[in-house]
This record gives sequence, structure tokens and C-alpha cells, in this order.
Amino acid sequence: MAYDADVIVIGAGLAGLVATAELVAAGRTVILVDQEPEQSIGGQAHWSFGGLFLVDSPEQRRMRIRDGVDLARQDWLGTAGFDREDEDRWPRRWADAYVEFAAGEKRSWLRQHGIRFFPVVGWAERGGYSATGHGNSVPRFHITWGTGPGLVAPFEQRVREGVARGLVRLCFRHRVTGLGRTGGTLDTVSGEVLEPSAAERGTASSREVAGAFEFRAQAVIVASGGIGGNHELVRAQWPGRLGAPPRTMLSGVPAHVDGLMLGIAERAGASHVNQDRMWHYTEGIENWNPVWARHGIRILPGPSSLWVDARGRRLPVPLFPGFDTLGTLEHIVTSGYDHTWFVLDRKIIGKEFALSGSEQNPDLTGRSVRGVIGRARADVPGPVRAFMDHGADFVVEEDLAALVRGMNAVTGDELIDEAVLRREIVARDREIRNPFTKDLQVTAVRGARRYLGDKLIRTAAPHRILDPAAGPLIAVRLRVLTRKSLGGLETDLSSRVLGTDGTPLAGLYAAGEAAGFGGGGVHGYRSLEGTFLGGCLFSGRAAGRAAAEAVR
Ligand SMILES: Cc1cc2nc3c(=O)[nH]c(=O)nc-3n(C[C@H](O)[C@H](O)[C@H](O)COP(=O)(O)OP(=O)(O)OC[C@H]3O[C@@H](n4cnc5c(N)ncnc54)[C@H](O)[C@@H]3O)c2cc1C
Repeated sequence: MAYDADVIVIGAGLAGLVATAELVAAGRTVILVDQEPEQSIGGQAHWSFGGLFLVDSPEQRRMRIRDGVDLARQDWLGTAGFDREDEDRWPRRWADAYVEFAAGEKRSWLRQHGIRFFPVVGWAERGGYSATGHGNSVPRFHITWGTGPGLVAPFEQRVREGVARGLVRLCFRHRVTGLGRTGGTLDTVSGEVLEPSAAERGTASSREVAGAFEFRAQAVIVASGGIGGNHELVRAQWPGRLGAPPRTMLSGVPAHVDGLMLGIAERAGASHVNQDRMWHYTEGIENWNPVWARHGIRILPGPSSLWVDARGRRLPVPLFPGFDTLGTLEHIVTSGYDHTWFVLDRKIIGKEFALSGSEQNPDLTGRSVRGVIGRARADVPGPVRAFMDHGADFVVEEDLAALVRGMNAVTGDELIDEAVLRREIVARDREIRNPFTKDLQVTAVRGARRYLGDKLIRTAAPHRILDPAAGPLIAVRLRVLTRKSLGGLETDLSSRVLGTDGTPLAGLYAAGEAAGFGGGGVHGYRSLEGTFLGGCLFSGRAAGRAAAEAVR
């Protein structure tokens, strides 16, 4: 029977684009299908901040950061906490290979694609436990110059060159609902053709069916993303060890991140592992200018804000801003409330609040040096100021009594007692004058400022939050924001999908979030951040190369 192409790629997000670009480079023909309209090409990566995990890079060295592959491996393993004999078999191998990639050819490969980085390296997931525990021992978060769109562009361009050369056929509004076999090889992709849609990028497009399709190819790559936009699935797969899922959650991803393709692959015999591992943020704020439903933005916080629970009590050590995402999530969901608060002041918000998302960083996304300098000089950066002015979660007041009234008005109850919150802030402020201090957050802030990058643009000089010169006071209500699946389709190092018996399913490959970014869960339980886009690059490239080789 005739094939329609050498390979079918499902999903035109970053992983699918990278895989397709590799297939084009090898001269293979590809049908690239996506349920969304063409204007949403690039998937989540378009919206992303473009942060990439790199190890021992020139950017790090210029910032006097000493890093190396052994330290990165130690951090990765301490963070992942792999503990499953079967399900972690391939994730462990992927983790090893990925750390080598991040410390090796990743940067030069990206530079060959014209990708450059912002010179100040960020320090995400700082940990706060022992040296072998969770977190980055050193800053490793490299921001792509041009953020997410800047990372997508060179791969999209290669795919479009493939279209011009007659190698690639783009099939948008094609929603896959089934995978089929001929003689044991998975070679058939079928589904619904959805009606044309003019929905703007990121907004929900219609699911009205206008027809049906069936394509055949020698190999199929699933690059359909994760489950973060499907709260029903997030709740169904929510791990018991994290307590009950919050009653309300914001969405950090568009609705097309629906996870349905994972079930379709499972029904075709694929092994779908580590489904209970996921990565959701605890610093979510409601977008005052939403693109998708329940649209939340993640604050990428510096370390100084006081993080208090719904009743105004500080979170336990080391749950400081930017230290341990999942530890904080676990604490919050077992607290009985869905929200927490950052309490801070103008000085801290001006220096320490960054917002994740390409559209929230027009200076970096637009590659504007002038814009970046303007941000560094601004009292409060424009996008953060817009949230202060319009955001439903922000309270800005000159004195603490008014701040507490505002906080209680936001939640519609009297959960915060001014005396409780005042006691926490006064006690913390007193430690600013104590050169020794037993307050580990104060110690962490002092430590952070020993890193040039933090001192320059990420960590405010230690000061009293109640000092009127640092005011006004600010409180930000934070909610859980769904984002990533860490589990996924189990794959070997060639991105071949394994069946439930552990052997490769002939013809089927997976990449990106659908493959748990490689192996079905390269992150284990937790991430060091900036590892997701890199996981799409690494696993997308592996899938494209392996499929190109297989269909020769
Ligand atoms: C705001 C934001 C900021 C982020 N910042 C960072 C960051 O700084 N660093 C980092 O490492 N990561 C970041 N991420 C995460 C990262 O962007 C994603 O994990 C990654 O882009 C996922 O890419 P993907 O190709 O696997 O999936 P997706 O981008 O989800 O693409 C999958 C595609 O498959 C299509 N599809 C799904 N099912 C079907 C079907 N049945 N039929 C046809 N098509 C289908 C979808 O429509 C979609 O286009 C961020 C994400 C967001 C949203």
C-alpha cells in the first residue's frame, strides 16, 4: 500500500518542529498535523520565557559561575529523586544524556541556528536543602534573546523551507483521534478535520468537525504536548502524596494542551509512565489581560518577598520564593487553603518580580537593548506595573492596616489578622540589622547578592519591609497554576515508544512533553527549570534523527 509521506509528525509545537526540521535536513517527506490553526504554530513554546538550562557556558563563566557536568548531574539526580525500578529505567538514562547535552553541544548547536542568550544567567530552583538535595547549586537559567518566539523561529523557518522544497505538508486543523497498524507496524494516523478557524494564537479554537482524514507513513512521531490545559485530567492524575488538588487552579497553558493524544497512544499499545508526576507553579496570578481561559501568569520571584499562608503565617524553611516549587505546592495543598501571599514593597517588586511569558517581556522578546536597559532603570517594569494597576490579586497600600484590609477584601473573608502578619514582618525586619541572624531567608538573600547577576538585577539590597522609604507595601495573592506533565510516553534513547512489555512499538516515536521530555519522565519528580524547552529540543532532535534513519 502506498504511503502519503515518509513520516507523520503529530503536533507543531517546539518538539514537533525540531523533529520535522531534522527530517527535512535528512531529505525525508513529512506530514505535520496539528489540531490548531496555523497562527498557533510553535504551541506553548511561543508563549514561553525561553529559559534554557545550560551547564558551564561562557555566559556563566563571564558571571564568575563555576559549573560542570558532575555538579549538574548531582543536582539533577538530587532533584529528580528517581525511585522507581521500572518506570525510571529510561528516564535515568535520558537524564544522563540530557545533562551531557546541556554541558556539551546544546549551546553550539543552538548558536548554529542563530540563537543567542541574554548575558545575565538566572538562578531558578535554588533548593535550600543539602548539597546533594533538590535545586541548582549555581545559576543555570539562560534566557533566549527573543524569548520563546526567538527559539521557535529557526526551527519553523527550516520547516517552511521544507514546505517550499516539497518535502513537508502542513495540515492544520487536523485532530488525530486514532493510530493504526499494518502488519504490526504503526503507520496510520486518522482523525477529524476541524472547520477553519480565525481564532487568535492561544485562544480556544472551535472543535466543529468538517470532515475526516487518514494518512499513512513508515513512521509516526507523537509530539502532542502534555496535560496542563485539561484540569480534569490534572485532577484525575493528581498524586496522592501532594494531598487533594486545590479547588481552584489557574491555567498556565492554552486549552490545546489537552493531553488527549496520550490516551490515544496508550490505546494503540504505548506505555504511558509516571503519570502522577507533574510540575505546577505556586506563584500564579490571574492575568488581567487574558488570552486563554483561566489564564494565569507565573511570577518568577527573587528571594526577598515574605511568603505567608492564607492566615498570614510565614511558610516553613526553605520554602522561600524561587527555592522549591513542589515542596511549596505540597505545603499549600495540605494547608487547607488554595492560596498564599507574597508580602513585599516597591523596592522588592521593582527589582525582583519577573513575569514568565514572551508577551510579558516585550523588551527581551523584541530583542530591544534599549528596552532591557529601560527595565533595569525603571522603578517598576511596565508589565509588572500593569498588574499592580489592574491585577485582581494585587493590593498596594501605604500602611499595614490598610494592606490587611485590602488582602481580606480580595479573598472576601477575614483570614488575615493584622497582628499575626505584623508580628511576622517586624520579626523578619529586625533580623536585617542582625549580622548573624537565625532567619535563613535573610541569610539566603545575603548569599544571593554574592552572585553578580542577582546583585545587578534580581535581588534587592536587604532592607526593612516596613521602612516607609521602601514603600508602598504590596501584597500579591498567589494561586496554583497548572503547567507541565513530567511523565509521558516511555521512550528509549532513540525516542522509540515502548509497549507495555518494554519493547519498541514498530513505527512509533515520541518527543517533547508527550514523552515526558524523554524516556517518559526525564525530570523524575522535580525540575531544575529551563529544562522543558531543552527537553523538546533534545528529544525532538533524537526522534527526527531516528525516524529519518529508520525510513531510509
Ligand atoms: C507561559 C509559558 C512559559 C514557559 N517558559 C518556559 C521556560 O522559560 N523554559 C522552559 O524550559 N519551558 C518553559 N515553558 C514550557 C515549554 O514551553 C513547554 O513545555 C514546551 O514548549 C512543550 O512543547 P511541546 O512541543 O512538547 O508541546 P506543545 O507546545 O503543547 O505542542 C503540542 C502541539 O500538539 C498539538 N496537538 C495536541 N493533541 C493533538 C491531536 N490529537 N491532534 C493534532 N494535534 C494535536 C497541539 O495543538 C500543539 O500545537 C513555558 C510554557 C509556558 C506556557
